[in-house]
Amino acid sequence: MKIAVIGTGYVGLVQGTCLAESGNDVVCIDKIAAKIEGLKQGKIPIYEPGLAELVHRNTRDGRLTFSTDLAAGIADAEIIFVAVGTPQADHGGADLSGVWAVGKQIAESLTEPKVIVIKSTVPVGTNAELARRMAESTTIPFDVANNPEFLKEGAAIEDFNKPDRVVVGVRRPEVAETLHELYAPFLRTDRPFLVMSPESAEMTKYVANCLLATKISFINEMANLCEAYKADVNDVRRGIGHDQRIGFHFLHPGVGYGGSCFPKDIRAVIHMAQSRGLPARMMEAVDEVNEAQKEVLHSKLASHFKDGLRGKTIAVWGLAFKPRTDDVREAPALVLIDALLRDGAHIRVHDPEAIANVRDLYGDKLTYCDRPYGALEEADALVIATEWNEFRNPDFDVMIRLLRSPVVFDGRNVFDPERMAELGFTYYGIGRVAPG
Ligand code: NAD
Repeated sequence: MKIAVIGTGYVGLVQGTCLAESGNDVVCIDKIAAKIEGLKQGKIPIYEPGLAELVHRNTRDGRLTFSTDLAAGIADAEIIFVAVGTPQADHGGADLSGVWAVGKQIAESLTEPKVIVIKSTVPVGTNAELARRMAESTTIPFDVANNPEFLKEGAAIEDFNKPDRVVVGVRRPEVAETLHELYAPFLRTDRPFLVMSPESAEMTKYVANCLLATKISFINEMANLCEAYKADVNDVRRGIGHDQRIGFHFLHPGVGYGGSCFPKDIRAVIHMAQSRGLPARMMEAVDEVNEAQKEVLHSKLASHFKDGLRGKTIAVWGLAFKPRTDDVREAPALVLIDALLRDGAHIRVHDPEAIANVRDLYGDKLTYCDRPYGALEEADALVIATEWNEFRNPDFDVMIRLLRSPVVFDGRNVFDPERMAELGFTYYGIGRVAPG
């Protein structure tokens, strides 16, 4: 099939590339000329494992092209995916200006009937409103469908190729059939293809993210309680997780969720509820617990360094909002860094992929270290803010030698408190207390 994807970010680039890899002709469109020029020269604007190789192969084979010209890009496309950002607006809900702008451009460029599919996460009613707005600019018939994206950054290719399910929201069964044909190669092992109304599909994406964020805030609140009562949240996890009604997934205590989705999507749902005069008490609590959890590491640092953090050097391992991505949007590490900068601390940071993005935000306020051990030199403490695999088995002797004092604040429970105490570290985890 001939496909156009508008918005070449984490979602659009993965979508376009994976669809090209399965044999479709795909043009990825974006309004940022530098991004498109870079992609034409093989420069991948984001870090996502396995993506670069797929982009290069499909570009070389001519199935994947890049353009800033929306009208030309969509001219031959049978399906047009819209994957532009829908960030949080000032009112707390989703900013849909990108979706409306793209819809207008598509409508004004239509020369024949097309299927427009919203991939972006959008409030319920957006599909209907987009169709209404587009109809003001064209007399050519078109369909607007919804196809929420469930991929996880860091495992996006795998998630796209083997989705747990594909959800489509359509007004006409023919549109579902077209989309089924497109996704058939990815549904080989009887993965469900779920057809529903656009409203239900829009809601499905938000409900999924709300539940996942709820699990994170839930276990974080329980972890803080464990810590106060000297229970070990890891043991508690084991104690509950074997119950098949509960399970282990997404119940890892830490420093709060971040990223470009959960924070804004939870707030978008709160805004949706408020717009209908409905309460959103649970989601308000989830958001509030999460904001507080992002401060937990800083509180631990502040109470450890009784004489204050001014002039202290703090090493931070992990900046991305989670491992295997370079995405630092709403990353908990940045909340800690902001607080430490306010305190007057020196900060030495390391991340395997996100340093360039953090440098864009902080310039010379931080010391950037290419290697994890480099960050430890002359540091008064180490903080782990993201659980990259490469942090799991460090050389503890080297760490003790490099750190000015052997103190570790482990925001992701990467290490074992007992072992750390035996090795001579002063160790702080989340919901876990070193014995003694
Ligand atoms: P992103 O910011 O990485 O990419 C969006 C891209 O759209 C940018 O390159 C931007 O330049 C482009 N764009 C914006 N307006 C445009 C316009 N008028 N014309 C052409 N291009 C335009 O965003 P993302 O992380 O890929 O997210 C996109 C959507 O998918 C959001 O709604 C998000 O909530 C949703 N989503 C994201 C993820 C994720 O893990 N990142 C997962 C599921 C769903």
